[in-house]
Amino acid sequence: MDSVKHLRFDVAVVGAGPAGIAAALAAADSGKSIGLIDDNPAAGGQIWRGAQTEPRPSAKSVWFDRLNKSAIQIVRGARVFHAANGELAAECDDSAVQITYGRLIVATGARELFLPFPGWTLPNVMGAGGLQALLKSGLDIAGKRVVIAGTGPLLLAVAAYARKCGAKVVGICEQTTWPRMVRFGMKMLLAPGKAPEALRFAYDLRGIPHWTDCWPVAAFGNRRVEIVRISRQGQTSEIECDYLACGFHLIPNVELPRMCGCRLQQGFVEVDECQQTSVAGTYCAGEPTGIGGLELALVEGEIAGYAATNWEDRAKHLFAKRARHQKVVGILKDAFPLRSELKNLARPDTLVCRCEDVPHERLCEHSSWRAAKLHARCGMGPCQGRVCAPAAEFLFGWEIDSVRPPVFPVRCSSLAAIPSHTAAPRN
Ligand SMILES: Cc1cc2nc3c(=O)[nH]c(=O)nc-3n(C[C@H](O)[C@H](O)[C@H](O)COP(=O)(O)OP(=O)(O)OC[C@H]3O[C@@H](n4cnc5c(N)ncnc54)[C@H](O)[C@@H]3O)c2cc1C
Repeated sequence: MDSVKHLRFDVAVVGAGPAGIAAALAAADSGKSIGLIDDNPAAGGQIWRGAQTEPRPSAKSVWFDRLNKSAIQIVRGARVFHAANGELAAECDDSAVQITYGRLIVATGARELFLPFPGWTLPNVMGAGGLQALLKSGLDIAGKRVVIAGTGPLLLAVAAYARKCGAKVVGICEQTTWPRMVRFGMKMLLAPGKAPEALRFAYDLRGIPHWTDCWPVAAFGNRRVEIVRISRQGQTSEIECDYLACGFHLIPNVELPRMCGCRLQQGFVEVDECQQTSVAGTYCAGEPTGIGGLELALVEGEIAGYAATNWEDRAKHLFAKRARHQKVVGILKDAFPLRSELKNLARPDTLVCRCEDVPHERLCEHSSWRAAKLHARCGMGPCQGRVCAPAAEFLFGWEIDSVRPPVFPVRCSSLAAIPSHTAAPRN
């Protein structure tokens, strides 16, 4: 059996993205012991991970400078897979880690939503953020033709990044309508702190076709994707490409807060004005409370950090700033609602659950996520439904009504290391 490390913090922060970093730093002002736990080898989350050509290099360096000078203990490469009764269980490469805490701040961010269409399992068809992550880890894409498809501002960020890395971005297929996209652009120009970013994207993406009312219908190729068929304003056409990067906006990572018993509202963690969840002593900041971008994640993190260390006054000073940045949540929601046509992309034999090879037609036989899991093994594979559950929710309108440990696949020895008193009630 692996060794088990035991850690104890006054405040444990799960997720070292912008929200988690801001939360940990605010909490650290109190002089209490703070642990910042993340499953990646380096802090930074989705936006600040890795490379130098980040959208906000100066903001990133200021926050990292503070983090490096702080007494915060960063627990890197630790996947928190279980939470119950005031304890977290995590897995590192060489050990299981048991973490106890006084207060907990969950800042687990978001992930992309993938929707199945014929050919989406071909090599070189990947998430838009997935492509960005590969590029940040050194994927050589120079000269390759890339189509970026789906919805949301992430497509723009990825297109700009891929171009900087030398890719030929053939086009961006955005499923939302042109009027919504124009309104989005105008509102972002007026949103606090967003104008420079919006203008930079306009410059970085100059010359790249950006089609609205457009989405991938199918991908074809022998050993990898070679052609993507798109629907564009009701007409289908085909584009040759080497990569298809595809993401349908973001969904919050709420598995851990759900496991802690935190109440959700419309899929997001419900918090009070101090970012406290329905579970006393458990706070939540960043994307799990609403998809709102970097600035909102940072200020929510700070509020959570102060509130968790009983510095409500400091937290209150940030409420107005948070209210300004919260406008982005509504702007994004209005701009990128998923259109119903996307529900009809999958054919009967299109896989929805890639881990367990469950095609669309097998899911049609069932009336709930639970039944689909029990009878078709949908969501029972290594990703534990992280990919197919949100897709099934959109395609079939099912409520995803349970979350069970482990959140991530882990070694049996890590499971065995969890003391029995931390076992969560079944839901
Ligand atoms: C794939 C992707 C790419 C993005 N790229 C951009 C971009 O280029 N530009 C931009 O402006 N915005 C981008 N965003 C949006 C951006 O992430 C948010 O606007 C904001 O920065 C979110 O901050 P956060 O701290 O809430 O979450 P995140 O930055 O997502 O940080 C959450 C962290 O928690 C970790 N984590 C989650 N669950 C666990 C667990 N159980 N155990 C341990 N660690 C865990 C994650 O690995 C991650 O490091 C991207 C989002 C995604 C999902």
